[in-house]
Amino acid sequence: MAFIREPIVRLIAVTHFCKPEDLDEFRIWQTDTDNEPQQLIEAAGRTCYSSWSNPSGRTNEQYIANLLEQGHMSVIEHSVASFYIRGISRACSHEIVRHRHFSYSQRSTRYVDESEGNFVVPDCIAEDPEAMKIFEEAVTKAQEAYRKLYELLREKFAHVEDKTLRRKLARQAARMVLPNATETALVMTGNFRAWRHFIRMRASRHADVEIRKVAIAVLKELQKVAPAVFGDFKIVPLPDGTEEAMSGYMWE
Ligand SMILES: Cc1cc2nc3c(=O)[nH]c(=O)nc-3n(C[C@H](O)[C@H](O)[C@H](O)COP(=O)(O)OP(=O)(O)OC[C@H]3O[C@@H](n4cnc5c(N)ncnc54)[C@H](O)[C@@H]3O)c2cc1C
Repeated sequence: MAFIREPIVRLIAVTHFCKPEDLDEFRIWQTDTDNEPQQLIEAAGRTCYSSWSNPSGRTNEQYIANLLEQGHMSVIEHSVASFYIRGISRACSHEIVRHRHFSYSQRSTRYVDESEGNFVVPDCIAEDPEAMKIFEEAVTKAQEAYRKLYELLREKFAHVEDKTLRRKLARQAARMVLPNATETALVMTGNFRAWRHFIRMRASRHADVEIRKVAIAVLKELQKVAPAVFGDFKIVPLPDGTEEAMSGYMWE
């Protein structure tokens, strides 16, 4: 068993733009960036107004800034990013999956053995020896109960021939004693508009510290791959030593 303080957040996929060079409009259109997610957004926006010749002479960054300024947010939905996230608690993942415009694949507690699982500990507990002692005792006890229940239930379902099903029947019942702090892993995929909304809600000081860490880590990655879409968010330190991020635009 290990105690985890920081989430692991990795960008694992992002939009690849395929320019159809055989079409006149795409031959006329010249953009000043090789950033593919941003190229796709500009191409989608120019489709709306057939403005392939760039009559206003905007750079890609200026073009996207104008979309964000005007609240023409559906255009940024075309570009998509996927993240692999682990080292977060089940409490945190429960908050994450409330966001309905993402696709999720999460580690199953019905199939995966949690008898050696790790636990996420909030900083305010980890930094307080007395609180940490209470936390450690509680999760250790819960994990022991999980192991005992699993063994007992495996015996109870011994008549089930299918080994995988037998284990699943035991685990799905034994998992009920696992704490909210139990570590989980997930893949989360969504478009840039959904990510902007997620960051606005969850990188705010009003959100829980753990999901805020995830949202800020996601933001840092997205600022690298699509600076024109996420560059307006500013990450600022808070008096309690944590951080929050705020958007420069009013639209979501
Ligand atoms: C600080 C904080 C505290 C919270 N506390 C609680 C709590 O105590 N209890 C609790 O249950 N939840 C709580 N939540 C979760 C919150 O209520 C939302 O479920 C969560 O933040 C998902 O965001 P969202 O509703 O904007 O929707 P998302 O699913 O992220 O959707 C994005 C946007 O799409 C639109 N949308 C999506 N679905 C619909 C729909 N069905 N109808 C109309 N428009 C839609 C809305 O404009 C929405 O804002 C909290 C969230 C935060 C940030």
